[in-house]
Amino acid sequence: MSTVVDLTRALLADAFDRPITYLRVSVTDKCNLRCVYCMPESGLDWLRREELLRYEEIVEIVRAAASVGVRTIRITGGEPLVRRDLHRLIAGIAAVPGIEDIALSTNAVLLEEQLPALLDAGLRRVNVSLDTLREDRFEAIARRPGLDRVLRGIDAALAAGLAPLKLNCVVMRGQNDDEIAAFAELTRARAVFVRFIEVMPVHENLELQRDAYVSSDEILERVAEIGEISPVAGPPGNGPARYFSFAGAPGAVGVISPLSHDYCERCNRVRLTADGRLRLCLFGDQHLDLRTPLRAGATSEELADIFRASMAIKPERHHLRLGEASSRMRAFSEIGG
Ligand code: SAM
Ligand code: SF4
Repeated sequence: MSTVVDLTRALLADAFDRPITYLRVSVTDKCNLRCVYCMPESGLDWLRREELLRYEEIVEIVRAAASVGVRTIRITGGEPLVRRDLHRLIAGIAAVPGIEDIALSTNAVLLEEQLPALLDAGLRRVNVSLDTLREDRFEAIARRPGLDRVLRGIDAALAAGLAPLKLNCVVMRGQNDDEIAAFAELTRARAVFVRFIEVMPVHENLELQRDAYVSSDEILERVAEIGEISPVAGPPGNGPARYFSFAGAPGAVGVISPLSHDYCERCNRVRLTADGRLRLCLFGDQHLDLRTPLRAGATSEELADIFRASMAIKPERHHLRLGEASSRMRAFSEIGG
């Protein structure tokens, strides 16, 4: 397989002239938590080991992606830190010419213990999911204990200088919406970016989504009750959030509004699933298989051709609005980026 990457080749752009520079890489479908909005408690069919891309295979795909303009890689899941030796993958990706930025989305339960190896491997940014600051609620929302470990993971990441540190909080009415102010206060004390996410419909949680949905406009109104906020640029990192800050605060509050203010027109991303499919949209079924050609010996150039071909089926936008959930929706990690 060729490992030579020609960085002068034509860069990816889709049929709507959106440059594609960001690849989310899911390394597992498994997780050590069971957040109510994301996964059912039990009964999931996990991918078989041979269905999962090996780290070497992921690196080959990243190499092809980089050759057509992908510059940022976000590692996600499921929970990426449950996959053994994730630092080996980070190191492999960090060595790919053209990749400028590697970030990780994690629930942080295993972050503290793995952080030294991840840093050594080249990790520079993390997004941590945190929906509550109260242990009893953590167990209710994540259906597992572990808030103390998550908080230690966040502290370790801050102490190691991983920046910007983004905290993702899915807001649910009646479950954690009364903590919006407490989360926002964190941005006055520390250089963290708290991003409130509108809960999205996935097929396990349609009722939850209907009953618990809080719009980003309402979230911002509630943040503004504790102090005046102004729009700010926010941290670098290709995210879909809109940011606001309190005067003089080291951090900022962000809102991610896949439903009420979608960000499709700014979409710069595609997604690699743990079983080797290139998915073109957070909510769509459009995808191309990369694993079969890769295992059949495709060259880097041939894989790059699949990335190019995929641009023709990247949809202009998702058609998800409140109440439009369809049965084919699944839990997607895309928004947490
Ligand atoms: N396990 C890692 C974590 O929790 O950060 C990475 C994968 S997780 C699926 C990525 C992000 O998606 C998290 O921030 C999570 O809160 C968010 N997410 C998952 N399901 C969601 C839903 N139904 N609505 C809104 N956000 C969701
Ligand atoms: Fe696991 Fe992340 Fe889904 Fe929660 S949101 S169940 S931590 S994958």
